[in-house]
Amino acid sequence: MSESRNHRRQAISKPEMVADVLLPLNVPHPFTYRMPAEQKVQAGSFVRVMLGKRAEVGVVWRVRKATAKDARLTLRRILEVFDFPPMPETRRRFVDWMADYYVASPGMVLKLFLGAPAALAPPRQRLGWRAVKTLDEAKAAGLNITPKRARVLELAQERAWPKDELKRLAEVGDFVIQWLKDKGLLRPEPLAPEQTRGAEHRAAPPQAPRLTPEQQQAACKLRAALGTAEKPAGFSVHLLDGITGSGKTEVYFEAMAQALENGRQVLLLLPEIALTAGFVKRVERRFGIRPAQWHSQVARAQRERTFRAVATGEARIVVAARSGLFLPWKNLGLIVVDEEHESAYKQETHVPYQGRDMAVMLGRMENVPVILASATPSLESLVNVQRGRYEHVRLHRRYGAAQLPTIELIDLKKHRPEPGCWISPPLVKAASETLERGEQALFFINRRGYAPLTLCRACGHRLQCPQCSAWMVRHKGLFSAGEILLCHHCGHMKPLPESCPECGAEDALAAVGPGVERLAEEAQKRWPDARVITLSSDLLQGARLREVMEEIAHGEHDIVVGTQLVAKGHHFPRLTLVGVIDADLALETVDPRAGERTWQLMAQVAGRAGREDRPGRALIQTYLPHTPLMQALKAGDRDSFTEQEIRARKAAQMPPFGRLAAVIASGSNEDELRAFCMALARRRPPSSLVMLLGPAPAPIGYLRGRYRYRFLLKGPRNADLQAYLRAWLGQVEPPGDIRLDIDIDPYSFL
Ligand code: ADP
Ligand code: ZN
Repeated sequence: MSESRNHRRQAISKPEMVADVLLPLNVPHPFTYRMPAEQKVQAGSFVRVMLGKRAEVGVVWRVRKATAKDARLTLRRILEVFDFPPMPETRRRFVDWMADYYVASPGMVLKLFLGAPAALAPPRQRLGWRAVKTLDEAKAAGLNITPKRARVLELAQERAWPKDELKRLAEVGDFVIQWLKDKGLLRPEPLAPEQTRGAEHRAAPPQAPRLTPEQQQAACKLRAALGTAEKPAGFSVHLLDGITGSGKTEVYFEAMAQALENGRQVLLLLPEIALTAGFVKRVERRFGIRPAQWHSQVARAQRERTFRAVATGEARIVVAARSGLFLPWKNLGLIVVDEEHESAYKQETHVPYQGRDMAVMLGRMENVPVILASATPSLESLVNVQRGRYEHVRLHRRYGAAQLPTIELIDLKKHRPEPGCWISPPLVKAASETLERGEQALFFINRRGYAPLTLCRACGHRLQCPQCSAWMVRHKGLFSAGEILLCHHCGHMKPLPESCPECGAEDALAAVGPGVERLAEEAQKRWPDARVITLSSDLLQGARLREVMEEIAHGEHDIVVGTQLVAKGHHFPRLTLVGVIDADLALETVDPRAGERTWQLMAQVAGRAGREDRPGRALIQTYLPHTPLMQALKAGDRDSFTEQEIRARKAAQMPPFGRLAAVIASGSNEDELRAFCMALARRRPPSSLVMLLGPAPAPIGYLRGRYRYRFLLKGPRNADLQAYLRAWLGQVEPPGDIRLDIDIDPYSFL
């Protein structure tokens, strides 16, 4: 028998202790195991167990006496208990709470907390490099010690360094290290655990700026919200609400400094897109320690190190995307959510959770303060301020001489762009003047690709994705080989056909509407001498994107044409004109937050202009200049916009004045799906509070080869949508390949 005695199934004869182990799987409850032979187990222990023929990593949810029922079953033993700090009770309650709130299985929620399962095992021994000779000895031996080689040798005198760390600190490449190895000047040496990170040990002095009186006041409030090491202040939420460029980052850095002084860890959340190397460097400069990073681009080995370093408390600052919430915090003392209004905090797959809301919940569970920062706070957060749940800390002034840009509207009905063009005459004029002054202009359009639609001029046929109910988007810049059609929903791609697939007409396929690439083409044609750069997430990524951002900051481009990639966070001192090509784009949807989102996007994009001493100007093209939204934007009157929006949401009982949940049913057979949805609708539980709308075909009624129907649940704030969903769907077994996805507090209505 290959199975060892330890985990063979065995009947339990007399009462003994057993462990209920939660596994990161879509099952409704934990599984019960016998205690391991030797190791100690407690609630929260990370363990390895067998499930069927598979080994799984899980967490002991509770330890209890075996019942008569357990005794009748044959239980297996826990295979292994990891030498890793157990998940504290607060965290386990958080998992249960999330499962309950999102009507998800606790196992699927637990999976979020196991972001680097391999990190539970002891780390592999890492090797570092240490100098064999001193600088003088090496020179005396007649070796050619260049300044770069000397820097490495000096660093590696006292201790060994991981190679990457050595390269980074000495600012040298692989080549230099290799040369020193070849000459026998460096030798490998096992690293002690505290040497594997290294960065924090070579602490540069922190560089805190002198705050302005307004910033100072805000920082004081936030520091007070943290309390001291002896007397930590506990849970609170502060909304740090300051116009773009007012120094919010500098202000919440002060709160972070206080948390570090108190000996606690800091979680700084950013929307994934804002997690740039530039920002991480800024954190490093301010605190003199390199923050750990946690997001989808971090390599596996580094993720494992970070996971462990968070658990040991070694990682003091973690800059993370939303999943940073689920790290094994040892000593969390502050959560900062920057750009808290961003919809990127909402996860749309698996357990669809709202990262900002969960940050507040984690703060409550762990009893630590939370800071939400934004120049354009979400309506939810502003209403929480009104309700007295959040403290409001405001910054009204831009730092230094910078002024907020003036915002002007261009009525597209009056100022039509020339045929086949998208930049209206007033915007053309403003841009020409800007360029003549040697300043930069930004054209913003929130649409990737060349054209959102391709149409046959002969027969009217529109090129649609074969797997989705969506038009194929034309892209010119993705491949040098030629133009392609790409579905932005499923990623389906094909070359642009030469003739119409429907009627066969040659040269009849016309691009309809602008995307960022087409706009760049127009700009280049109109200003042939200008240096035009296109910024779009599918054209520029990673290191090249960072380079381009630097180039723009240094004035190496005259015209920037960009999608929302350029809307946030970046600081371009020479940029003084922002032109928004189509402010109405986001308004054409069924999304109840469409107005709010448009406001946020416009304010953020406009905020790119005039960030230093030169005044900035934003020109917004719209067909709806007289709507209250556009008028409030022009007047820079956020409070009046907020009041309007609050009134409208109240009247419609939309969040945060009412609650929503969506249920999306999908399947490959449309008739079967429709019949199933009708049957579901008939078995809706009676309720005086909850309104169930649907089923209706989803706006994207066909996605990746599956048909989609939507239900929407709506109720007042005191309605228990979750209980309703459980009563309604708890016993339902969808037939065939039909799937039901529940989305509590939905942000997407497609
Ligand atoms: P926000 O986060 O509100 O957009 P930032 O904190 O990024 O604003 O500040 C905008 C710019 O002004 C940054 O380059 C920042 O370093 C600078 N800045 C803000 N406050 C100060 C200050 N008190 N001293 C020096 N520079 C500052
Ligand atoms: Zn598609």
